[in-house]
Amino acid sequence: MWRATILTIFPDMFPGPLGLSLAGKALKAGTWSLEPVDIRDFGIGAHRTVDDTPAGGGPGMVIKADVLAQAIDARAADPRPRLLMSPRGVPLTQHRVAGLAKGDGVVIVCGRFEGVDERLIAARGLEEVSIGDYVLSGGEIAALAVLDACVRLLPGVMGAETSGTEESFADGLLEYPQYTRPQVFEGRPIPDVLVSGDHAKVARWRREEAERLTRERRPDLWAAFGAKTPSPKKNHPKR
Ligand code: SAM
Repeated sequence: MWRATILTIFPDMFPGPLGLSLAGKALKAGTWSLEPVDIRDFGIGAHRTVDDTPAGGGPGMVIKADVLAQAIDARAADPRPRLLMSPRGVPLTQHRVAGLAKGDGVVIVCGRFEGVDERLIAARGLEEVSIGDYVLSGGEIAALAVLDACVRLLPGVMGAETSGTEESFADGLLEYPQYTRPQVFEGRPIPDVLVSGDHAKVARWRREEAERLTRERRPDLWAAFGAKTPSPKKNHPKR
């Protein structure tokens, strides 16, 4: 079973949306498990204090290293990767998600306030991970995003019909456009090729569209794709 342990001061935010749909079914089926750990259980004094003012001054509060270390040591002292949700972290990619999904699970520390004491990050080997260049109020929504991305890749969760192998990022490209009935929507028909019944032509069209969208929308991905697989990019006709 793939195990997720989440250290947070808001354990009630879990499973949240992950209790529904595919992830929720998989949770009930025992494909994965979720253990939210309340950092306040390791807080100090009658008020179960978990934070203190920043050294050097400035606004806000910082989660204390000693409190968080105790929480990790008590509930997550095993070899699973330990992530710290952080806008300063390495941006999450589908490649990293696939790697996490192949393992035994994950430990995720959710920051709050101004973040966590820097010494804890090194002392407990936390990998700082960002879900984008914007600032959330806390790591919980970021952790839910990481879990959702991982859980849908666990064996059996998506079902045979959607393997994930043709999705955006799976081979370094964005996904091709999708259509379904009606055949004509507000005067816009489904592209002829998709109703031609010619599977080879459909595959070629999808590939070309995936390359076009990636080139137009994500020059960074397109450059990386070209460096990895130079021939399709070189051969692609100019549009
Ligand atoms: N002072 C921090 C900074 O400027 O980098 C921001 C702290 S933020 C208000 C509180 C917490 O939200 C962070 O410690 C982190 O756990 C989480 N968080 C915010 N934005 C995030 C992002 N883009 N990706 C992952 N976690 C994020």
